[in-house]
Amino acid sequence: MSTSDLLLIAIVLFVLIEFSAGMIINYLNELSKAQPLSPEGAQIYGPEEYAKSLAYGSAKYRLEMLTAVISTVAILAAIIGGAFAWLDSQLRDRIGSDLIVTVSFIALLIALSTIANLPASYYSTFVIEEKFGFNKSTKALFFQDAIKQLLISLAVGLPLLYAVAWIYQELQSQFWITAWALFAIFSLFMFIFGTRIFLPMFNTLKPLREGELRNAVEAYCQSQGFPLSKLWEMDASKRSTKLNAFFSGMGKVKIIGLYDTLIEKLTTQEAVAVLAHEVGHYKRKHVYTMFAFSSLQTLVIFSLMGWLLGNPNLSQAMGSDTQSFHLSILAFFLLFSPVSTLLGLINNSFSRRNEYQADQYSIDTYPGAREHMYSALKKLSRESLSNLNPHPVYVAVNYSHPPILDRLANLKK
Ligand SMILES: [Zn+2]
Repeated sequence: MSTSDLLLIAIVLFVLIEFSAGMIINYLNELSKAQPLSPEGAQIYGPEEYAKSLAYGSAKYRLEMLTAVISTVAILAAIIGGAFAWLDSQLRDRIGSDLIVTVSFIALLIALSTIANLPASYYSTFVIEEKFGFNKSTKALFFQDAIKQLLISLAVGLPLLYAVAWIYQELQSQFWITAWALFAIFSLFMFIFGTRIFLPMFNTLKPLREGELRNAVEAYCQSQGFPLSKLWEMDASKRSTKLNAFFSGMGKVKIIGLYDTLIEKLTTQEAVAVLAHEVGHYKRKHVYTMFAFSSLQTLVIFSLMGWLLGNPNLSQAMGSDTQSFHLSILAFFLLFSPVSTLLGLINNSFSRRNEYQADQYSIDTYPGAREHMYSALKKLSRESLSNLNPHPVYVAVNYSHPPILDRLANLKK
C-alpha cells in the first residue's frame, strides 16, 4: 500500500473518530441534562421553565446530531470520491496561474460550505429560536447577515490566503516562519480592530443612553480609569431577546458593548456588576494572553506545514497527481484535526478560567457585586434557557464559559 493510501485511510479514520466522539459526547450531554430540578436550579427556574429549558436543549441536540450526520457523509463522500481533486483539475483547465487556482478553490469551498450551512442555521433561527420565543430576526435580515458574513470572510480571507500561497511559492524553506509572522501580524490587527471594523456592519453601536445606569456606570468607570467613550450599547434586540455583554480590543482601541436587551432586563446594579466583569477582562489582560496563546498555536501549525506541505503524498491522498498547495493544505488540516481538537480543549479551559477571574474582578472592585452578579447571571440563564446540568466532557469540548451552577457556586464562595 502506498503512503498516500495510508494517509487517505488516516484522514477517513480521523473524520469517523471525530464524528463518533461528537455523537457520543452530545448524547451524554443529552442524558446528563435531564435530572430532577435541584434546589440550586430552583433558584433559576420554576418547574415549567425548567421543562421548557430541557425541551429547548433537546431541540438543539436533535438539530446538531442531524447536521453532524449530513456534513460527515458529505465530507467523506467528497474525500473518497475525489471531489476535491476533480474541482482542482477543473480550475486548472481554466486558470493559468497556480496562485489564482488556489484562491478560487478556497473561495468556492467557503461559498459552498456557507450555502450548505444555511438550512440548519435557518431552521435554528426560525423554527427552534422562534418556538422558544427568542427570535427577533426577520428573513430579510437573516439572509442579509449571511451574505455579509460570506463577503467579509472572502474579502478578509482570500488576500491573506493569496499572500501565504505566494510566500510558499517564493520562499520554500523560509515559508513557515515568514507565513507565521504575516499571520501573527494579521491576527494582532484583528484582535485590536476586528470588532470595531466588523461589528458596526451588523449592529448599531450608540453611546450608553442617559439615565440612572449611565450615572452609575460613570462613577464606576471613573474609579477604574476606564473611559466612558469606550462603552457602547448595541441593538442586539433586532436579532434575539437573549442578553449579553462583551469586551474586545487592546490598548486605546478597546470597547465594552452592552446589549440593549441586558440594559432593559437587568437592574442598574446588576448591569454595573456585569460591566465590572467586562472591565475585569480588560484589566486582567485576557485579550493579550489569548493573542499570545493563539500565536503559539499558529506557530505550531505553520512549522508542521513547513515540514509536511512539500510532500506530494498529501495531494495524492486527496486524489490528485498534480501537487497543489490547496489540496495539500486541505489534507494537512484533515490530518491535523486531532491536534486542533486538543488545542480547542486548552482554549476553552483557558477561557473558562478567565471568566472566573473576571467575576472575581467584579467582586473586588464593585461593592455588592457578589449579590448583583449572582442575580444577573440567574436572569441571563433564565432568559436563554441555559442547560443546568451539562455533561463535564461536553463542557470541556464546547463551553468557553463555565456552566451556570458552577459559576453561581463560585460567586457564593
Ligand atoms: Zn466574561
